Amino acid sequence: MGAIDDLLERNQALALSHPYWIGPLPTMQIAVVMCMDARVDAHAAFGISPGEVHLLRNAGGVVTDDVIRSLSISQHALGTREVMIMHHTDCGLARLDEEEFRLKLADYAGYRPTWSVQAFKDPHDSVRESLRRVRDSPFLIHTHAVRGFIFDVKSGLLEEVVTD
Ligand SMILES: [Zn+2]
Repeated sequence: MGAIDDLLERNQALALSHPYWIGPLPTMQIAVVMCMDARVDAHAAFGISPGEVHLLRNAGGVVTDDVIRSLSISQHALGTREVMIMHHTDCGLARLDEEEFRLKLADYAGYRPTWSVQAFKDPHDSVRESLRRVRDSPFLIHTHAVRGFIFDVKSGLLEEVVTD
């Protein structure tokens, strides 16, 4: 039995307590952009309940065109007003070399990906870059209520990344 079957089995048991009465507008009016890292559990780290927050996750938690797409929908259609960027220590993307990984993918696929891997060395730099992409986006309404953080996977605490 694969992991999908495991998850389906867990769902059967947990669906009984599913909060079906909650509406689609996040009550805290915030979107959190974060890494997909399996250790970083936003619900546990912030005590988030269903219905409160939009969670946008990808490798690294970087602000890509697709994240801007989701943030546009989050702000224009679903009423969020703040953006929190959360990268973390010991990220898998910090262990990848951009060019090396692109070549590996090209070798595997037969052509280079059209997207960039967005590897980084220091999460402070990647958070600052993501902050700039939100602040510079012409598609977003709330481009100033955005703050960036690094989640420490050892302590479970956040460090704010200061920008000028
Ligand atoms: Zn990560």
